[in-house]
Order: sequence, then structure tokens, then C-alpha cells
Amino acid sequence: MKSWPCASPNTPPMDADALRQYLEFYQDLHIQTLYRRTPVQAPTVVAAPEPKMELPPLAPPNDSLLKIIQDIGDCHRCKLGDARNKIVFGVDEKAQLVFVGEGPGADEDEQGIPFVGRAGQLLTQMIENTSKKEGIPLKRADVYICNVVKCRPPGNRTPEPDEMQICGEFLYRQLSTIHPKAICALGGTAARAVTGHKEGVTKMRGKWFKWQDIPVMVTYHPSYLLRPFNENAKREAWEDLKKLLHFVYD
Ligand code: URA
Repeated sequence: MKSWPCASPNTPPMDADALRQYLEFYQDLHIQTLYRRTPVQAPTVVAAPEPKMELPPLAPPNDSLLKIIQDIGDCHRCKLGDARNKIVFGVDEKAQLVFVGEGPGADEDEQGIPFVGRAGQLLTQMIENTSKKEGIPLKRADVYICNVVKCRPPGNRTPEPDEMQICGEFLYRQLSTIHPKAICALGGTAARAVTGHKEGVTKMRGKWFKWQDIPVMVTYHPSYLLRPFNENAKREAWEDLKKLLHFVYD
């Protein structure tokens, strides 16, 4: 028996000849009336909004850095707790400026102090040399330095979303307690965790964002600036830092 492929929304349009043969085929079967099928529309897929890295909305009343450290305790809320040596927190409750990095490296894990390795030494130089050049009397000890996660990710890998979410609670409380005049997010991970924006650091750097009511400046992570052939990024980071320091200390 003669058969005709069923016309589907994906069938290419027929030319006059093919259409005549198609209709004759149905005429042979004594079918008098044909209905045109409304083409099936492909569903419009609305991209789900990317889940935003939400920090919890509230810190306990009369919070302090000491309380936060006590609440962190011997933390094993995420898997980073199992491999770490020391929890890396931060110092100086009264700072007007807070730097947020990604997570401790090997040196920080050993000493329990943020940014003490090679990247940390560069950060210190950046802070102290820029402020000196700009006539701002500022030492590293005058700013507060911390990280998105407080335990070293194995092999210095990027912290995973669940680790950032869990530790974000404590970062939030640190920022809230210190309530600095400005925050500097160092690198893409910190920028994304603090601002909730998902762009890469190259797009975000040098611009102001907000964490609650506090202005946030995004710049490159010092580890990135340590890589060779990064002269342009270094220049940009110095520019970002100048902008930040004048905003906070002028
Ligand atoms: N890199 C970071 O992001 N934080 C540190 O404390 C050290 C290196």
C-alpha cells in the first residue's frame, strides 16, 4: 500500500508538485477534508536565574570578632575542616578598610594568619607603598584582612559553593561587626562572594559595588599579579588601590 510520510512541523515546505501528489494520495483514500496542523511552537526556555551566593541576613545582636571565633570553634561544618592545619581568621576590629581574599594557602594554614605568603607580602607592599606615595599614613596593621573561606582548600583549589556558603556566614558577621568604610575584594572568588555578581574579575575590577550599605572595590588577587607578563594588570591594581585608599582615608 502506498504510504505518505506524515507532515510534521520539521518537514521542509513542499513544492507545488509534491503538494499535488500529497493531496492526490489522500483523494485516493476518499479523504475530502484536510486540516492544517498548527505548527508546534518550541517552548521558550527562560533561563533560570543563577543562584546568588546569599549570605545570611542577620548577625546575632552585640556580635564581636571574639564571639565569631568562638562560634567557629573547631569547625568541621564543611570538608575543608578535615584537611586544614589552622583556621585563618583575621585581626584588628577597628579597621576602616577590609580586604577579602579567597582562602588560605600553605603558609597561612601553617601560621593561622591571612596573607603571609608570597601573595601576602605583595599585598603588604601594595598597601604600604601606595599609601606612602599618596601621602596617606597607613600600615598593613591598620587594615583588616580576611578570606571567603577560613580553611585552606586542598592544593589551593578554588573554594566550592557549599564551602563558600557555609563560611560566608562568618565572613558576613566579620564584615557586619567591623562595618568598615569600604571593602576590597581581591580576585574573582571574593568579588563574586561579596557582591553576588557573577562577572569575571577583569570586568568588575576598578568599579564600586555594594555589600549591604558598604562600598566594595574589586581588584585583582595578588597571586595573579605575581604571575609574569602581568604588567598591565599590576598597573590597573595600583589604580584601583589608589581610588580605594583616597575614598577611605581622605
Ligand atoms: N590567598 C588568599 O586568598 N588568602 C590568603 O590568605 C593567602 C593567599
